[in-house]
Amino acid sequence: MPRIDLKSLILGLSLVVALLTFGNGFFASYRIQRDLLMDHALESNRVYAAKQAHNAEGLLQAIQQQLAFSASRLAARMTDEAWLEEEVQRLKGQSQSFNSVLMVRADARVLASAPDSLGLTGHILDTPGAREALSRQTPLITEPFIGASGNLLVFISQPIHDEQGRYLGYVGGSLYLHQENILQRLLGRHHYADGSYIYVVDRGRHLIYHQDDARVGERVTGNPVIEAVLRSESGSQRLINSRGVDMLAGYAPVPSTGWGVVAQTPTEVTLNALNRLMGEIVLRATPFSVICLLLIWWMARRIARPLEQLAASAQHWESNSAAEQIGAIRGWYSEAEQLKRSVLNGLALLHMRLGRLNLENVTDALTGLFNRRGMQAAMDGWLMQGAPFSLVLIDIDYFKRVNDQHGHDVGDQVLEFVAQKMRECSRGSDLLCRAGGEEFVILLPGAELDAAVQLAERLRQAVAASISPTGSGLTLSAGVAHWNPGAETTKSLLKRADEALYRAKGEGRNRVLCAEPPATE
Ligand code: GH3
Ligand code: MG
Ligand code: MG
Repeated sequence: MPRIDLKSLILGLSLVVALLTFGNGFFASYRIQRDLLMDHALESNRVYAAKQAHNAEGLLQAIQQQLAFSASRLAARMTDEAWLEEEVQRLKGQSQSFNSVLMVRADARVLASAPDSLGLTGHILDTPGAREALSRQTPLITEPFIGASGNLLVFISQPIHDEQGRYLGYVGGSLYLHQENILQRLLGRHHYADGSYIYVVDRGRHLIYHQDDARVGERVTGNPVIEAVLRSESGSQRLINSRGVDMLAGYAPVPSTGWGVVAQTPTEVTLNALNRLMGEIVLRATPFSVICLLLIWWMARRIARPLEQLAASAQHWESNSAAEQIGAIRGWYSEAEQLKRSVLNGLALLHMRLGRLNLENVTDALTGLFNRRGMQAAMDGWLMQGAPFSLVLIDIDYFKRVNDQHGHDVGDQVLEFVAQKMRECSRGSDLLCRAGGEEFVILLPGAELDAAVQLAERLRQAVAASISPTGSGLTLSAGVAHWNPGAETTKSLLKRADEALYRAKGEGRNRVLCAEPPATE
C-alpha cells in the first residue's frame, strides 16, 4: 500500500487546521453581522411603523374634528340648501382631506355634495357606507366599499343632532383608495432604495394603502404581522409574507380606527449587503492566506527534509559513501539529529559485522587465526559497546634461530604449531589472532585479568612441554592486560601488554607477566 509522505502529512494537517480556524471565524463573524443587520432592520422598521401610525392617528382625529365642527354648524341650517352646498364645498376644498364630501339627511336623501360632478344631490344614497352611517348614528370610519361614484373608498362621517339630541343625518367625506388621497400624501408613495415599503390594513384585513396600487382593496389572510397588529400589538418580526417573500417587518396599530401600519424590508435585500461585505473579507484575506500557505509549505519541506534524506540514504546502506552522505545531512531539530546519529552508529556496527563476516579480510592465511584487522575490529566493537575484555600478547622466544637453523618453512610450521596449541588451550568464546610475524594475541571477552593469566600460563606450559616441528625446547613469552570500559584506547592497551612482554623477555623468557594498570588521569 503506498504511504503518504511526511511533507504531505504536515501540509495536510496545517491546511485542515488553517481552514477550520478561518472557516469558524468567518462563519461566526457572518452570523454576528447577519443578526446585527437583521436586528437593525427590524428595529428601524418598528420605529418607522410606529411613527407613521402615530401620524395617521393624528390626521384621522383632525379630520373627525373638522367633520364634527361642521356637523354642529349644519344642525341649525338643514333647510338652507344653498348654505349646505357652500359648506360641503368648503369642507372639500379647504383642507384637501377628502376626495368627496356629502351631507345626507336621516331619510338617506343627499342634501348637498361635492364635487358637483358626482351628481348625487337630491338622490337617495344606498351604499354600504351610507347604510352603516344611518344605522349607527355615531362617528364612523367604514371598511372599504365601492361607492356611488364607482370608486373603492373609505367613508368617514359625523352624525348631525339638533339641540334636543334628535338625529338629523350625517356629514362625511370619502378617501378614494385608488386615487391620490390624504393617506397617500401622509405615508408617501416613494419606493425606498433598499426595497423597504409601508402598507396599511383595516380591521377587515383589507389593504387600504400599498405601494402597489393593484393590491389596494385586497383582503390579506394568514399574515402573522397583520394578525398581530390587528390585535393592537406593536413590534417587529421576520416573516414570509402572503407572496412568499422573506421580510423583516415592523408594525404598529392606529388606535382610533383599528388599522395597522406595517413597514418592511425584504430580508434578502438586507443580507445582500452582508454577502458583499463577506466577499470582500475573503478577497482581502486572500493574499495573507497565500503567504501563510507558502510559509507552511516551506516549513513542511524543511521539517521533512532531514527525514527524507535519511530515508533515501537508508536505501543504499551497502554503498561506501552512505556514512558520508548521512553525515552531511543537517539535523536542525533534535529528533532528526538523534535519528541521524543512531543511523550512523547502526551503520558503523553493520559495517563492522559485515567486515567480520568477510573472512578473507580478517583471517591469516597461514594459521587460520584472525589477522590484525580482525583483532582490531573485535576490540573496536567491544570499545563501542563498553564491554570489558582481557588480552594476552604472545611472542615466540628466539624465533629467528628457528628460521636460521631449520629454514623458513619449518619456521612457518612452528607458527602453525603454536596456533594449534592456542586453539587447544582456549575456549570457544576467545578470539585467537596472529598479530604479525611470530606474535600472537588472545582476546578474552568479559574475562578478568586472572583468567587471562591462567590461560597464558596454560599455553606457555603446553608449548614448553610438547614436541614442536623443531623438536623439544620451543618456548614463548606473554604479557597480559585487561581493558575496562572508558579506561583507555586499544593502542594504549596493546602498549601496556607489549611492555609486560618486553619485561618477560628481559627476565629470561618462557614466562607470563601482567601489565601495569593504565595510567589514570
Ligand atoms: P626473541 O626471543 O627476542 O623474540 O627473539 P626472536 O628471535 O624471536 O626475535 P624477534 O621476535 O625479533 O624475531 C622475529 C623473527 O621472526 C624475524 C623473522 O625472521 C621471523 N619471522 C617473522 N615473520 C615470519 C614468518 O611469517 N615466517 C617465518 N618462518 N619467520 C618469520
Ligand atoms: Mg617478535
Ligand atoms: Mg620472538
